[in-house]
Amino acid sequence: MDPFRRFVPLDNASAGAGHSCAQPGQQVEATRKGGARLTPLLLSTSGRDLMRIAIAGAGVAGSYLYRLLKARGFREVELFDIRHRIACGIHPCGYGVDDQFHSAVRQVGLDPARYILHVPPRVLAAIEGVAAETTVFMIDKPALLRDLRFDAEIRYEPVDVARYDLVVDATGETRAYSTPLQDDLKARVVQWRVRVREPAMTGFMPTRGVPGYAWVMPLSQDGREVHVGGGTGAGISASAKSLTRPAFGSLDVESVICACGARIRLCGPDFDRIVHQNVWAVGEAAGLVGPASGAGNVYAMQSARALADNLGDPDGYIRTLRQKFSLLVPEAKAVRKVVTGRWPSPVDLYHIRSGWTRAGVRVAWRDLPRLALAMGRAYRAELA
Ligand SMILES: Cc1cc2nc3c(=O)[nH]c(=O)nc-3n(C[C@H](O)[C@H](O)[C@H](O)COP(=O)(O)OP(=O)(O)OC[C@H]3O[C@@H](n4cnc5c(N)ncnc54)[C@H](O)[C@@H]3O)c2cc1C
Repeated sequence: MDPFRRFVPLDNASAGAGHSCAQPGQQVEATRKGGARLTPLLLSTSGRDLMRIAIAGAGVAGSYLYRLLKARGFREVELFDIRHRIACGIHPCGYGVDDQFHSAVRQVGLDPARYILHVPPRVLAAIEGVAAETTVFMIDKPALLRDLRFDAEIRYEPVDVARYDLVVDATGETRAYSTPLQDDLKARVVQWRVRVREPAMTGFMPTRGVPGYAWVMPLSQDGREVHVGGGTGAGISASAKSLTRPAFGSLDVESVICACGARIRLCGPDFDRIVHQNVWAVGEAAGLVGPASGAGNVYAMQSARALADNLGDPDGYIRTLRQKFSLLVPEAKAVRKVVTGRWPSPVDLYHIRSGWTRAGVRVAWRDLPRLALAMGRAYRAELA
């Protein structure tokens, strides 16, 4: 079966506009009944719970923040999003997390075990034949989002910024309510959920002809439902087919469940542009995605926690984010070099490797030159 026949890119999705996708399905709707019970974690006694807070974006960061604030007794919290027509109901999906996921989820009174779909072997011999140690595993992200939003009635309309004490920009790569970034960098990502005839193993491999990587990640314990995708630097016109050919090459696809395209922010955080008046960015809107790995789920939750802990204290919020995420800045610089076709220096390679490690994928130092050469060969192969 040719999975590319079902592919509809979402690359042109814009702020406030509805998205389209390969397979129409349920919309993101309020989940009044679903989800685990909410346990009050820390009820505010200072009156801050009267703050009027709008959260724009019901993705990981926005939904996590919603649950956390409700648990802390904040009553005037409203969650906004835009409509999607996507089989899984969320955009973007992105199912992989590392072991920091457990504590982040426990902090909002949920049981992380509820969301685990597939745990690959700890050591993968998968990145161009180089063994990598990994703590990455796959989660049921739609179920997590449902539980984080538990009682939210999501509003599908623009936020009137002046009506709120605080507007949280949790709109991901769109960054719809924050000031524009001077040096933004986004990668194009394409992805499928497919069923395969033979069980698949987790694997990462370079895209062909352009700097980027493709992946195969099982979404079920039997390895027969699989997340397949590939990502590359923005502005490089590579077809979805060429991006993911190395990944699909190893699979015998039986059926396609859904497919979509998206963008992912790789520029790292610009700490001077996270807070502007009453608009505070969080998660991917704040640039908090690992540029070398594309991992942003856990950072979205961690930054939402930082925001909740520093409500009313913008300097404290930025300080906390700097402490936790400043290493993303040199990592982003190194990645920018690679995706714009320049050779990374040894220091850049150090930061890229550290970025992978932070995302739960560890490659031994001695394997780095071999990996870099293999990836270089792969990028050039298609161009030759
Ligand atoms: C294809 C793909 C695969 C990925 N795979 C992984 C992975 O395996 N592991 C990992 O850790 N990370 C992955 N990522 C990154 C990860 O998905 C994001 O970093 C993470 O979802 C960021 O969370 P967020 O809540 O900040 O933003 P998002 O999850 O992007 O949520 C933003 C929300 O804002 C909404 N929105 C957009 N515009 C507006 C608007 N104008 N008004 C209101 N709402 C709006 C969107 O509909 C969405 O619900 C992947 C990203 C992509 C694109």
